[in-house]
Amino acid sequence: MSDPLPETETPAGQHTASRPVNWEDFREHLATAHKDGRRRWIFAKQPSGQWYRWRTWMSWVLLGVMFAGPFVRIQNNPLLMLNVVERRFSILGHLFWPEDGIIFAVAMLTFFAGIMIFTTAFGRLWCGWTCPQTVLMELVFRKLEYAIEGDAATQKALDAAPWTFRKIRIKAFKQAVFFGLSFLIGNTLLSYIISSDALIHIIVADPRQHLFGLGFMLLFTLVFYAIFARFREQACTFICPYGRFQSTLLDENTMVVAYDHKRGEGRAPWKRDQRLELRRSSGHGDCVDCHQCVAVCPTGIDIRNGVQMECVNCTACIDACDSVMTKVGLPRGLIRYASLNGIEHGQPLRFTARMKLYSAVLTGLISLFVFLVLTRPDVQSIFLRAPGTLFQQASEGRISNLYTVKILNKTHRNLPIDFKLDGREGRIVVMGAKQFLVPKDKLAETSVIVELDPATLSGSTTKISIGVFADGKRMETVKTAFVGPRR
Ligand code: SF4
Ligand code: SF4
Repeated sequence: MSDPLPETETPAGQHTASRPVNWEDFREHLATAHKDGRRRWIFAKQPSGQWYRWRTWMSWVLLGVMFAGPFVRIQNNPLLMLNVVERRFSILGHLFWPEDGIIFAVAMLTFFAGIMIFTTAFGRLWCGWTCPQTVLMELVFRKLEYAIEGDAATQKALDAAPWTFRKIRIKAFKQAVFFGLSFLIGNTLLSYIISSDALIHIIVADPRQHLFGLGFMLLFTLVFYAIFARFREQACTFICPYGRFQSTLLDENTMVVAYDHKRGEGRAPWKRDQRLELRRSSGHGDCVDCHQCVAVCPTGIDIRNGVQMECVNCTACIDACDSVMTKVGLPRGLIRYASLNGIEHGQPLRFTARMKLYSAVLTGLISLFVFLVLTRPDVQSIFLRAPGTLFQQASEGRISNLYTVKILNKTHRNLPIDFKLDGREGRIVVMGAKQFLVPKDKLAETSVIVELDPATLSGSTTKISIGVFADGKRMETVKTAFVGPRR
């Protein structure tokens, strides 16, 4: 922080005595609302300090991954694509289909177990460091706002000023930049759903052919524009469910951004040339009541009131307070990453029994997920007897059944498919083309005639087993029913 430390006069102007604190007052109203219910717009001061620097570096990495993600191809498949419309998903270049439902179920369980253990151990580290909402809001949109409108005080003054040509120009320019960026973000999200190729096709093709796609591009843009230009911190406090259920996961050993009330209270303004021993002997704590931690908070709360649902653990207040502590010559870390037990009893962060249990569950789920992915068959086949058919008399006295066969090729190469009967005399004839070729990452369908010697049948319905082969390698074994004459 480049500002000189104000000789900390509180709003009430008390210089010498600790200001009485109404601990429960903050529960009476929202930090982002006036008492009459109108929204209180947060003009958060731009943080500066080591944590803000680290978050900025992290944001560049995450933004790079986010914007490049849809264009990165592994074996010609997107790095990540969640095409819920066509129910086709690509994760790390592996295509998944609705037929892989069990893998999805385990993946979702793993995801939620991961969130639970992560939140129990590290609180809302995700929110402050990696959540796209926080990264884009605090480290992209708000930075652009500082660049266009100036610091928090200038923004506030501009907001209160009458509408002049200058104000209209600045505000219009900011909104245009926000809208353009929202368009970019909306389209990036859309390409995670329909793939970048499909998005580019919508952009370059005749718009009349893609009114639906263009409608979604506009919708996504408007949603992101509304979030970053208007909703802002309210997306975290009112919409996101994660902040709501975190209170059920946090305990006294969870690492959170916390104010060391034991060291900080009773708070009292810092007087120039004040001697530390004198300050301490008169019962004052290290908090100089400068409100810098509140000024930088993007959700408008006072961390000194304790852990709150609105706190996204963005670390801005740590930087602000550290800067103040450095200026007055007190140790940094009055606000820091700590657990309640760390603050109350000086305990280091611990790996508790609850965390161990969650970790064991998570390890089991991850192992199951890896096992399912590694043992996933490369093809998935369905043999269905053709509707309305029973059996027919074939040549050489054999009985034949007609089947409709669907084969899903989950590999990245075209597969020439053959079928062989397991443990039975007879033959399988693929109808149509000489070679049944299933294109890579595609579902193909054909009709197949199975002919068996009636002497090998065990009744009107016989269970048979068919091997599905590609390039001479057995890919799958399918069981189906063969219908013959009554005995
Ligand atoms: S209290 Fe601190 S960590 Fe929490 S949101 Fe506000 S500035 Fe960020
Ligand atoms: S906690 Fe730190 S930044 Fe906040 S009011 Fe006290 S001294 Fe200032």
